[in-house]
Amino acid sequence: MKIENRAQVLEILQMPMETFLRDVVPEARKAFTDQLDGKLRVTSMMGFSNICKNRCLYCGMRAGSTGPERYRIPPEDVIAAGNTAADAGFGRIFLISGEDPGYGFNQLLRITSALKARGMFISLACGEWDAAQYRELCAAGADEYVIKFEMSHPDSFDRLNPSTDFDRRMRSIRAVQDSGMLLASGNIVDWPGQTTDELADDIMLMKSLGISWAPVIPYLPARGTPLAEEGGPGSRLLMLREIAILRLMIPGVHITAQQPGEDLSKGLSDPEGNAAAVNAGADVLFWDLLSDPQARSFRVIDVRNLTDRGHISRVAEMTGRAIDTGEYFHEHE
Ligand code: SF4
Repeated sequence: MKIENRAQVLEILQMPMETFLRDVVPEARKAFTDQLDGKLRVTSMMGFSNICKNRCLYCGMRAGSTGPERYRIPPEDVIAAGNTAADAGFGRIFLISGEDPGYGFNQLLRITSALKARGMFISLACGEWDAAQYRELCAAGADEYVIKFEMSHPDSFDRLNPSTDFDRRMRSIRAVQDSGMLLASGNIVDWPGQTTDELADDIMLMKSLGISWAPVIPYLPARGTPLAEEGGPGSRLLMLREIAILRLMIPGVHITAQQPGEDLSKGLSDPEGNAAAVNAGADVLFWDLLSDPQARSFRVIDVRNLTDRGHISRVAEMTGRAIDTGEYFHEHE
């Protein structure tokens, strides 16, 4: 099954669930095996600062939110954690933070260089910088940069992301592409007010951007945020439809499998939710390097719960997939 245009995307988003499960999911599962050897790509990750100057309406770490206890992990500790991950056999690390002006761009370069010297594939997600800074990150050894467009319609983006604007976000996305790093980008699925047309446009934008990884999850309300008052959570079944479409539409793309299940109290490490995502074509799971209390404070959403590392083996067992921790992106090098 090939999906190439918006009409096909809309058809899958709107078909009866039964038809989707019967006709589309098996095709996506097969495409996963054909395109990615069917392996779960497990990457180490660390949210090294949960301080953010921005006020995205959906985010539990937005400036002024009193929810999470704020922390900033010093560069030497991030490097030490990366070395621990490398010692444990991880070839890839994902470092993520809020837009924290106090962290220091040079410290980010220092971390990147040190972990590149260890031979790691480095993905960063630290917000908007200027084009020259993205080039510096690439030169220091960053392989991939995660910057989500979140919403493909400018009016929606501008309403929900008042600290920046859609044009600026797209300029940052283009600057990442021009820097030499791979671009990881994606949307939020089924936030309150999102239309099916808008969701289809999000998916088409992911295709046109030539992304390496779709770091996508459904909208999950975070306590005390303005958007939580408008509704949610987003539909995990709609999320599965997006995953299957992406798997069938963008050959070789990596897709976040750390997805919620029916019991939202289990957060993103619910084996049932993760396994359903894998069965729809997603492949990326995380091994969290943060200590438990800090992991709980890195919360764009309320119940991220990535600290139960045993869930990775459970998902592998449930889906019959092998785990790949070491050669995640060597195909791009
Ligand atoms: S989504 Fe990112 S940029 Fe927006 S408030 Fe949260 S941490 Fe900051």
